[in-house]
Amino acid sequence: MIQIRDLHKKFGPLEVLKGINLQIDQGKVLVIIGPSGSGKTTLLRCLNLLELPNRGSIQIGDVQLEFSEGRKLKHSEVLALRKKTGMVFQSYYLFPHMTALQNVMEAQIQVQRKSKEEARTRTMELLNKVGLGERADFYPHQLSGGQQQRVGIARAMAVNPEVLLFDEPTSALDPELVGEVLKVMKGLAQEGRTMVIVTHEMKFAAEVADRVLLMDEGTIIESGTAREVLENPASERARAFLNRIA
Ligand code: ADP
Repeated sequence: MIQIRDLHKKFGPLEVLKGINLQIDQGKVLVIIGPSGSGKTTLLRCLNLLELPNRGSIQIGDVQLEFSEGRKLKHSEVLALRKKTGMVFQSYYLFPHMTALQNVMEAQIQVQRKSKEEARTRTMELLNKVGLGERADFYPHQLSGGQQQRVGIARAMAVNPEVLLFDEPTSALDPELVGEVLKVMKGLAQEGRTMVIVTHEMKFAAEVADRVLLMDEGTIIESGTAREVLENPASERARAFLNRIA
């Protein structure tokens, strides 16, 4: 489903991704962990071209893009890859002047050109799925952080992406609100959605991940099952990181 080869990303002189290779099969959950600043968010943002890689290739489903210095992507290429992914951000970025319903309907109408009725039906399905059917007409400021983030998840799913990307979706939440968001994500994992999740929630990672990657300084230093990486890491650097966050 996803194949990344030799992906490089620089910000000026700073090389943030130093040749990332990874593969995710359809229906699997990949969890990415690692110290702050190791490049996890940049990698996710490259997957939907919020950041443009300098080198390497990304394939998601039937779309494959090659990157090289100086090569400009066509707008159609950017859109083709973006359509494949739905992103859930650390902060929810809901439109404050729109209700939960309108937030989730927006892209279906603007991007997918669905009729209002069709979009509304799909949106209610999604809001029910994340446990917020009753709050469809609430504005973001009338919802808790956990509820807003669940709307964010519904919104990411609204255009039927093949892959869901989560960038530390619970790290901006009060601790008591983390569980409800993780529960929704666990449900999606059990449904067989393909997901890439950056998180510091190790217990959650151990429960849902088919594979775990541990990044450090722009490279993948460990890759394997949750048990292999979290309980039995091969490298000293990985052990040091896991001890720090334990
Ligand atoms: P992580 O998600 O693992 O914390 P990031 O991908 O956010 O790591 O960041 C990796 C490195 O790239 C950090 O040193 C960060 O300061 C730098 N960085 C991230 N985004 C930018 C940007 N837009 N411009 C310059 N430097 C950036």
